[in-house]
Formats: sequence, structure tokens, C-alpha cells
Amino acid sequence: MPNATAFPPLWEGFSVVSIDSETEALQIELRPDPRRVPRCGGCQQPCPAVHEYCTRRIRDLPILGRPVRLRVHLRRLACSGCGRRAEWVSW
Ligand SMILES: [Zn+2]
Repeated sequence: MPNATAFPPLWEGFSVVSIDSETEALQIELRPDPRRVPRCGGCQQPCPAVHEYCTRRIRDLPILGRPVRLRVHLRRLACSGCGRRAEWVSW
């Protein structure tokens, strides 16, 4: 029997904090896992210096035929090499 918890996460490094299915599109809110050290979106080096937080709205692939809109909370980092950059996201 397949183990449902072994299913790979859709949004690596982020966890779902809310899902709103009242609208036509599924609205999914994601927050980064605070236990993971963020990587700079420029050089991709680990960068623990969080400057501020921002929110991005992103369209994702449909789930079960319904459009998906992500509301993603991202950390903006103070990278010593690149300056202020949003964190790197693998997906
Ligand atoms: Zn950098």
C-alpha cells in the first residue's frame, strides 16, 4: 500500500499555511520553513541575514482542473556579495 506521507512536497522548502477553495482558483498560501537557512537568489549561497519579508503572487499549474494561485511569503536577504535579493526557490 502506498504511503501518502512519502509523496514529495510540491513546493520544496515551503509549507502550506492556508488553502482557500471558495473562489474559482485555489488560493494557496505558502511560508518558508524557518529551519532552513535561505539561499541568495543571486549567487545561491547560504545567507542567514534576513533583511525583510515580502509576498509574491504566482500562478501555478492546475490541480484537478482548477487554476492555482500561490501567495508566497519570501525572505529578502542581505547578501554580502549581491546586496538585497529575494531568497532562491528551487521550484
Ligand atoms: Zn548573493
